[in-house]
Amino acid sequence: MSSPTSSAPLRALKIGIIGFGPFAQFLTQTMIKQGHSIRATSRSDYSEHCARLGIPFIRDMDEFLQSDNEVVLLCTSILSLSDVVESMPFQCLKQPTLFADVLSVKEYPRDVLLQALPPESDLICTHPMFGPESGRDGWHGLTLMYEKVRIRNEAVCSGFLHIFASELIIAQGCKMLEMTCEEHDKLAAKSQFLTHTIGRVLAEMQIEPTPIDTKGFEKLFEVKESVANDSFDLFNGLYVHNRFARQQLKNFEVAFDGVKHKLLDRMNE
Ligand code: NAP
Repeated sequence: MSSPTSSAPLRALKIGIIGFGPFAQFLTQTMIKQGHSIRATSRSDYSEHCARLGIPFIRDMDEFLQSDNEVVLLCTSILSLSDVVESMPFQCLKQPTLFADVLSVKEYPRDVLLQALPPESDLICTHPMFGPESGRDGWHGLTLMYEKVRIRNEAVCSGFLHIFASELIIAQGCKMLEMTCEEHDKLAAKSQFLTHTIGRVLAEMQIEPTPIDTKGFEKLFEVKESVANDSFDLFNGLYVHNRFARQQLKNFEVAFDGVKHKLLDRMNE
């Protein structure tokens, strides 16, 4: 299996984006710079925003799917994916299309899409492990996880992966990590979901900087701040649609109780 390398040339693709929220807008800026032809659709009206970017906003889903996309990139929230997919008139597709998603859970979109897509459509599931904040100065060295779930058109697929792998333009160059959706969800429950959980707990506690902050506390505050920038829907989706997150939440509760009991036991001694 050939892996995407930063030295291969970029192929300009026609990419249709579904769900033009903050993350899609962030990806679009780079895709436009790379010379891809982008069009977008979304539940809300982004026509003015798209006009400023110089790309079409297509409100009607039939028209959007008829618009000759080589790649359809799903950037909706985790919680809305199945409703969005159910509402898509796949018969409007004019050609076998590569479907890709960027959801922060992976088994769930893989299963929803495998069930709904026409058999001639290809599917790649991806998770860019960064966002508008952490990727603000470029994607160099940041990780993109992907699984080629069902790929027959390798040229379009590798063209899509080069959006992330390419170092040709403003030194993008993600660390490209191929792994299964299951493996991703196991690891993400232990890392991303745990980070969001702790950040949300710290936000509930309304922690604020003090004049005597240690470096450790500064890092904790950063975690709280970064999580607060993401929607609660995202956190909710990380829990509801990653089967490994449930166990992680239990582990967190047990560990917290364990630490508390150790303290209380020592005090009682
Ligand atoms: P988000 O709140 O997770 O998703 C916002 C998008 O979902 C918007 O396009 C919104 O459409 C759409 N949406 C929400 N509810 C909907 C509904 N009921 N019906 C139809 N569409 C609905 O915010 P986000 O940060 O932009 O994330 C988008 C996706 O990227 C998510 O799946 C997330 O897991 C993934 N991701 C995010 C990051 C990040 O750092 N933010 C990083 C990696 C991956 P409208 O705007 O039109 O209402």
